[in-house]
Amino acid sequence: MSIRKKLILSYIGMILIPFLLFIATSFLLVTFFFKDAFGPHTHTIWGRNAAGETQQFPGYMSERNKWLDGITLFAEYDPDKLADPAFLQHADQSLQPLDSALAVVRGGRLLFASAALPAEGLAANLESSTAQAGPDGSSQEKGPNGWGGPQLAIGGHSYSVERQPLAFADGSQGAVYFLTDTGRTVRFFRTLVPLLLLALLLAIALTNGLLTALVSRSIIPPLRELKRAAERIKEGELGHELKPGKRDEIGELSDAFEDMRRRLQESVRLQLQYEDNRKELFSSISHDLKTPITAITACAEAMRDGIASAPGMQIKYIDMIHKKAGDMDRLIDELFLFSKLDLHRLPFHFEPVDLRAFLRDCAEDLRLNPQNGGVRVVFAEADGPPVMADADREKLQRVVTNIVDNSLKFMEAGSGAAGAKEIRFTLDAAGNAGQVTVGVRDNGPGIKPEALPHIFERFYREDAARTPGTGGSGLGLAIVKRIVEEHGGRVWAESVPGSGTSIYFTLNRSSGPVREEGGANEAGADH
Ligand code: ADP
Repeated sequence: MSIRKKLILSYIGMILIPFLLFIATSFLLVTFFFKDAFGPHTHTIWGRNAAGETQQFPGYMSERNKWLDGITLFAEYDPDKLADPAFLQHADQSLQPLDSALAVVRGGRLLFASAALPAEGLAANLESSTAQAGPDGSSQEKGPNGWGGPQLAIGGHSYSVERQPLAFADGSQGAVYFLTDTGRTVRFFRTLVPLLLLALLLAIALTNGLLTALVSRSIIPPLRELKRAAERIKEGELGHELKPGKRDEIGELSDAFEDMRRRLQESVRLQLQYEDNRKELFSSISHDLKTPITAITACAEAMRDGIASAPGMQIKYIDMIHKKAGDMDRLIDELFLFSKLDLHRLPFHFEPVDLRAFLRDCAEDLRLNPQNGGVRVVFAEADGPPVMADADREKLQRVVTNIVDNSLKFMEAGSGAAGAKEIRFTLDAAGNAGQVTVGVRDNGPGIKPEALPHIFERFYREDAARTPGTGGSGLGLAIVKRIVEEHGGRVWAESVPGSGTSIYFTLNRSSGPVREEGGANEAGADH
């Protein structure tokens, strides 16, 4: 259940449950006080009447009201009955256990007063206390059953006074006063009301306490767990997995937190890896720059110390210095290019390029280069309709050059397949509908299977000793990979040690216009 639902339900509970509890408690309290629920001799708060009987509140009230109604009736229809001493005596006796009393005034003089009332000055007292009488002479301010009548203090008791005017048969006027001692009732309510209030407070406190404990049990512990997890992350402890929470808002928060922790962990791992790579990069650069510098220094020292005094030797040393300086220059160029590619700072200008014509040009350039004598360059798919791809022509040239340079370099250095050295270009436009695959295959020494997955890594060279025999910075294929990826393609290698290497890369097909290829194409066509 969601926390929102739980809170709504607990709010409803906090209103409803105390209300129901209060009603139930009130019912019990009232039952306990109003009724003698525990047997006839139990002394209830209402106590026993003068006759020693246990009184019950409802009986007491209805009895008293009966008398009040009866006297009112007599006052209206048979006022002379209220001048009958026998009747008044009987009424007085019946009213005593009900804490009520009667007084009758006739012609301004007290005709009858209950024994509980002091006769002296009573008529005047009663008259003045009910002076606010209405035009009919009856008490104006009447509560239910006359309980709220004017109050009169007599002989240490507080009475509620009800007045009914009397018009006797002989023409004299008077009034009958019905007095109720409110002391006992007030005491009763004084005890009951605080108890009821206490019950209400207890009901509210109990319900709130229980519901708060219930709701907070589903909120506080998972929040504490989250806090602990946050503290662990603050301390850099990212490996502690947060268990999936309940299906509520905090559960969702835990899931999001766990997701964040995993990403953070991954990013820290990458950060550390980058840091390692950076250190490795520095050491590789230092190594690759140090080697030619050491050679140049050695040659220069040899010449300065006159070791290479023979003119032939001097030329040899100068050639060596020139070659090493060239190596360094190339390395710095490649490093510069690679770093720009790595930082995505090299602008690319894509245009539709006819790959068939482009590869035809590359093949022709290779054939025309006198340094490549003895290398057979084959492009079987040279003829056919244009195969258009979106590419940056200059960068694409760089890709092909780097791959071909490797083929030439390693075919020269290693023992490949028997027969003539061969570089074969392939173009496959039939495979993937949206892409074209270009391949450069040689029949050089090949690459060992364990080295194959690493050849596109920067500074990776299968020759672990980094001996300068095959030259190279180890950046050539890393540059190829970055350029191809910027084109939205991928690059991979296949190789069989001893029989050759194939490097393939894909480019996105272009829907752009077919462009006529430049002069190089025409030059190549002649060969
Ligand atoms: P390098 O400057 O060393 O050539 P590259 O990134 O171009 O660096 O190539 C990485 C490594 O891949 C090379 O050192 C070599 O071991 C291997 N390699 C690449 N092309 C070939 C190939 N045509 N034949 C054999 N090995 C190759």
